Amino acid sequence: MARYVYDLDEPSGGGKELLGGKGSGLAEMTQLGVPVPAGFTITTDACRAYMAEGKRLPDGLAEEIQEHIARLEEKTGKRFGDDADPLLVSVRSGAAVSMPGMMDTILNLGLNDAAAEGLARSTGNDRFAFDSYRRLLQMFGEVVDGIDAPRFEQRLSDAKQAKGVQHDTDLDAEDLRGLVGVFKSIYEEETGGPFPQDAREQLTRAVRAVFDSWDNPRAQVYRHAHAIPDDLGTAVNVVQMVFGNNGDTSGTGVCFTRDPSTGDQGLYGEFLANAQGEDVVAGIRTPEPLEKMREHLPEAFGQLLETMANLERHYRDMQDIEFTVEDGKLFLLQTRSAKRTAAAALKAAVSMTDEGLITREEAVARIDPAALDQLLHPMIDPNAKLEPAAKGLNASPGAACGEIVFDADTAEARGGAGESVILVRWETTPDDIHGMIAAKGILTVHGGMTSHAAVVARGMGKPCVVGTEGISIDTGARTATIGGTTVHEGDTITIDGGSGQVYLGAVELVPPQINEDFETVLGWADDFRRLKVRANADTPEDAAKAREFGAQGIGLCRTEHMFFGEERLPVMQEMIMADDEQGRRAALERLLPFQQEDFEGIFEAMVGLPVTIRLLDPPLHEFLPDEEQARDDKMRRRIRALREANPMLGTRGCRLGVMFPEIYEMQLRAIVRAAIAVSERTGEAPLVEIMHPLVGFAEELRRLRELTVQTIADEGEIEYLCGTMIELPRACVRADEIAEHADFFSFGTNDLTQTVLGMSRDDAEGKFLTYYLEHDVLERNPFETLDQSGVGDLMRLAVERGRSVKETLKLGICGEHGGEAKSVVFCHELGLDYVSCSPYRVPLARLAAAQAALAESGAAQYVAAGG
Ligand code: ADP
Ligand code: MG
Ligand code: MG
Repeated sequence: MARYVYDLDEPSGGGKELLGGKGSGLAEMTQLGVPVPAGFTITTDACRAYMAEGKRLPDGLAEEIQEHIARLEEKTGKRFGDDADPLLVSVRSGAAVSMPGMMDTILNLGLNDAAAEGLARSTGNDRFAFDSYRRLLQMFGEVVDGIDAPRFEQRLSDAKQAKGVQHDTDLDAEDLRGLVGVFKSIYEEETGGPFPQDAREQLTRAVRAVFDSWDNPRAQVYRHAHAIPDDLGTAVNVVQMVFGNNGDTSGTGVCFTRDPSTGDQGLYGEFLANAQGEDVVAGIRTPEPLEKMREHLPEAFGQLLETMANLERHYRDMQDIEFTVEDGKLFLLQTRSAKRTAAAALKAAVSMTDEGLITREEAVARIDPAALDQLLHPMIDPNAKLEPAAKGLNASPGAACGEIVFDADTAEARGGAGESVILVRWETTPDDIHGMIAAKGILTVHGGMTSHAAVVARGMGKPCVVGTEGISIDTGARTATIGGTTVHEGDTITIDGGSGQVYLGAVELVPPQINEDFETVLGWADDFRRLKVRANADTPEDAAKAREFGAQGIGLCRTEHMFFGEERLPVMQEMIMADDEQGRRAALERLLPFQQEDFEGIFEAMVGLPVTIRLLDPPLHEFLPDEEQARDDKMRRRIRALREANPMLGTRGCRLGVMFPEIYEMQLRAIVRAAIAVSERTGEAPLVEIMHPLVGFAEELRRLRELTVQTIADEGEIEYLCGTMIELPRACVRADEIAEHADFFSFGTNDLTQTVLGMSRDDAEGKFLTYYLEHDVLERNPFETLDQSGVGDLMRLAVERGRSVKETLKLGICGEHGGEAKSVVFCHELGLDYVSCSPYRVPLARLAAAQAALAESGAAQYVAAGG
C-alpha cells in the first residue's frame, strides 16, 4: 500500500514535491541537527489521492496518522488528548511552491476544556493555557468551519477595550478564561454544535481542512497569478507545539540571513516577546527589531545567529526563518529560500560569489529574469525637496503614484481598467490578493516587514509601504487622514517603497538607476549566453535606452509612426487620396526627408550595431480619420473604399509594397540617404537590414527584393541585408522557397500567434481567452508566453526548411515573446541567432538567454527560466 506519512527525522526519499517546502525544510533541519520540534508530514500524494477520491481520505491514511501520533507521544513523553499534560500540535499546510498566507495553519490543536485546565496546572501558568485555547478556538473555527475572523476579533478587541488596554498581552488569565467561554459560544452559534473536545477528531478535521484549503479561491487566484499548476496539492505538517506565549522568557520571530530588500548582510528580522508565531506574520502587533532579542534572551539569540549562518551555508542561499523561543530554548519552525527584491537577489548573488559560496554560473542561474523589471521601475527624484506626509516601513522598493482606493475589489475594477491606483488598507490579508495585483502600489497602516502586505508585494515587485503609523482610515466614509490631512478615495498620493515615505499628490518620478550588482551579474550572463539580444525601437531615444540596457542592435524598427507627426500625416493622407501613381509619388517625395531624418537619428544612436527596418506594415486606412471626421466627400468615399472586414488579414504588409511599390521605394531611398549621411558623419557605415512584413509567398519577396536591390543601387552604395518577417503559417511551411530570396528571417510572433491560433488578440484578451485561462482550457496566455507546441512547432519547421536551402540564413524573433523568459529559452533551443524585445526587457532577455545556455550545458544545478 502507498505510504503517506513520514516523521521529520525519517528519510522519505522525496523532496519538496512530496513533502512540500515546509515539510522538506523541517525534515532537512531535523536531520542537520538544528533544534526543531518533533513531528511528521502527510505527503502531497495523500492530498492528491484525497482530491482524486472526491475529498475522501485515502485508505490507510487514518491508521498511518495514528501510528505517527503514537510515535510522537513516545518522543515527547506526552499524550495526545490527555487531560493533565496534553501533547499539543500545530497542523500546517505546505505546498511545494511557497504560497505565503494562502493556506491555513492551526496552532495548539489537542486542547479542550479539561486539557486547558490540565495545561494550566502542569505549567503553573493559567494565562498561557487559556491564551492558547482561545487561539485554537479561533483558528479552528476559521479554518475548519469557515467562521469569519471578525466574529472573534471583535470580541477580543471588546475585551481589551473593556479593560482599557491596548495589547493582547495586557489581558490576564481571567480575561482569557472569559474569552474562551465567549469563543466557544460563537463556535456553537455558528456551527450549531459544540467545539469538538476529542483531539483525534480535531486532527482529522484539521487535516481535511488543509487539503480543502488547496482549492480555496484565494489560493487559486495566487496560483493563477504566479503560474503555479493546480494539481500539485499540499502536504500537511503536524508538529509538536512549542510555546512562545509562555511568559517573558518566551517569544517568537522571523529573520532573514540577509536583508531581503537590499541583500546587505547584517541582522535582519523581527521579534515579539510572549507571543505565538502568527502574531508576527498577521501584523496585529508591530514587532521589535531582532536586535532587541539580544537583551531579552541573550543565549537563544546567540544560538539563533549560529543557526542562521549554518542554514545559509547548508542551503547556499539566503534563508527566511521562523523561530520560537520557549522558556529560553530556541526552536526553528521553518526555513526556506527567502523571497527578495531583485536588488537584494543581485547583491546576495554577487556577494555569495565573492564569498566562494556559489559559482558565477549559479549566481546567474538564480536570478529570476522577470524580477529584473523591478530595478527598472521609476523612483522618486533623489534630489527633489519634498515633505513626506507620513512615513512607514520600506517594505518593497520602487515608487508609485496613483489614486487612493480602500478595498481590493475597487482596486481590481479600476486598476483592471488601466487606472493607476494605490491600495490603502489597515493591513492586507490573503483576500486582498486580486486588488494587490491590480494596484500600482500598496500602503498599510499596520504590520511589519514580514507582514502579509510586505511579503506579497516584494514577491510581485510592487512598491509597498507598511506600518505607517501616521495614517488612519475611515472605511465607512472612504476617507483617510495622512499626517493630519484628510484625503478621499480618488485623491492622488505617491508612495516610495524604497524609503517608506508617503506623499500627498503626484510626485515627479525619475527613471530607475541601474547599480553595480546589476551590471556585474548581467556581465557574467553575457559571457554565458549564445543568443544575441536586440531591441525593438522606433526612435533615437528608445534606441539609446536600449543600448544602455545592453542591446546589440535593433531587431525591429517600425516605420509607421513616422507618418503620424503633425506635419507628416496630411502629406500621408494626400498620398493615400491621390488618384494615380504620379500623385502618390509627389506626396511621397515630400515625406522622404522626414523618413531620412528619422533613420539618421536611429543609425546614429546605433553606430556599429545592426538596425532592422521594417517597411510600412499597417493598412492605409489607419492613416485616415473616421468617416464622420472626413474632410470632404472624396475622403469619405476613399475611407469607405478602404474599409476592410478584417484589417488584420487585409491589404497590409508587403501586399502594399507589391501593389504600390513607390511607397517602399521612398522608404528605401530614405534609408540609403540616411546611411550615407551617417557614414560620412561618424566614419562608420550603419549595418542596415531591410525587412519586408507579412510575406506568405516566395513570389512576393522575390519582387520586393528586386525592388530593394534596384532602388538601392540607383540611390548609392551601401551594404545591407534584405529579409522578411515570418508571421504567417504559410511562410513557415514554405520557408525553403522564401529563404531563396532572404538574407534573414525575423519571426513576428505577435501576428504569427494570431494567425496560427486564429485568434485576434483584441478579440481574445478580456474575452474568451480570459475565460479559457480562468477555466484551465489554456495554461498560459499565448500572446505573453509563446505557444511552444503550436506556434513554436511551426517556427521549428521554418528554421529547418529555411536553413536547408541557406545555411547562413540569419534568424531572429521580434514579437513581444522576445522579452519573455520562457520564450527566450525556447528561442535558444530553436537555435535562433537573436531575440529582439522592448528596451526595458533587454536585461531580462540577456539573463534568460544565459540561463538557457547554462541549462543546456548543465553548468548550473538550478533550473533555468524555461524549466
Ligand atoms: P505560514 O505558512 O503561514 O507561515 P506556518 O505553518 O509556518 O504558516 O505557521 C504559522 C505560524 O505559526 C508561524 O509563525 C509559525 O512559526 C507558528 N507555528 C507553526 N507551528 C508551530 C509550532 N509547532 N509551535 C509553535 N509555533 C508554531
Ligand atoms: Mg510559516
Ligand atoms: Mg506583424
